[in-house]
Amino acid sequence: MSLLAGKAGIIFGVANKRSIAWGIARALAGAGMRLAFTYQGERLKESVAELTATLPDAPLYPCDVTSDDDVRSTFAAVERDLGRLDALVHSIAYAQREDLEGEFVATGREGFRIAHDVSAYSLVALTRAAVPLLERAGGGAVIAMTYYGAEKVAPGYNVMGVAKASLEASVRYLAANLGAKRIRVNAISAGPVNTLAARGIRGFTGMLQHHAERAPLGRNVELREIGDTAVFLVSPMASGITGEVIHVDCGYHILAV
Ligand code: NAP
Repeated sequence: MSLLAGKAGIIFGVANKRSIAWGIARALAGAGMRLAFTYQGERLKESVAELTATLPDAPLYPCDVTSDDDVRSTFAAVERDLGRLDALVHSIAYAQREDLEGEFVATGREGFRIAHDVSAYSLVALTRAAVPLLERAGGGAVIAMTYYGAEKVAPGYNVMGVAKASLEASVRYLAANLGAKRIRVNAISAGPVNTLAARGIRGFTGMLQHHAERAPLGRNVELREIGDTAVFLVSPMASGITGEVIHVDCGYHILAV
């Protein structure tokens, strides 16, 4: 019997096959969960559709998470097409390129706002829209993706580190707020993975190499390992865990020097 058979989830943030969201999707689908997906803008529609078509009966909706209308219509479509919702995966982040390159002190008001709107506030907006469906399923799980740059300074991560700190705090506030509805909210803090978004960070290749050399496990994390953690967090095996940030980084975060 599959661990998540009969359950349904929605995944935000698949851009291509290297996306962390796609690694999570494969693991959740492998555990028997039915999935819906979103894409942002026509530019990505075709490539995301090619991937989602490899899963059984997986609807795909357009959704720019900065648009309240898009968020509303996405969850109306989920209700119509899936009929239930047990899990929401938020795997989205964006900052202007110039804010991931220069000095952090140079971050402008608009760049700061955009990074926080897309990367942190969207978790609150998506979760709020999902609550009625999750509640109707008797509870559910929300997962957000974060990075160690929320806790410690990572060169070049700049405003994204500050947005991730906001995302992690939002995970805790949402968890406290929604616990009574049996909705659990957690984050996975992944080690560096070579994705489209990651390549926007200056010096990312060096970061990958540094992590692999320094991490206790002596390597970088694999998509499969992030996906397996998501399966655990969504499943009844994690029924006592909420408001947590779980590091899936081959142990890198335990090091002081
Ligand atoms: P990715 O494949 O580029 O995924 C990022 C996704 O965010 C893309 O699908 C992107 O769509 C989407 N997005 C950006 N702005 C959006 C908006 N306004 N509305 C809807 N979607 C939007 O990169 P990834 O590395 O897998 O990132 C997924 C998550 O993991 C992010 O939260 C990231 O910070 C986190 N994370 C990544 C790493 C890493 O090393 N890669 C480590 C730890 C945590 P578009 O391409 O259309 O903009």
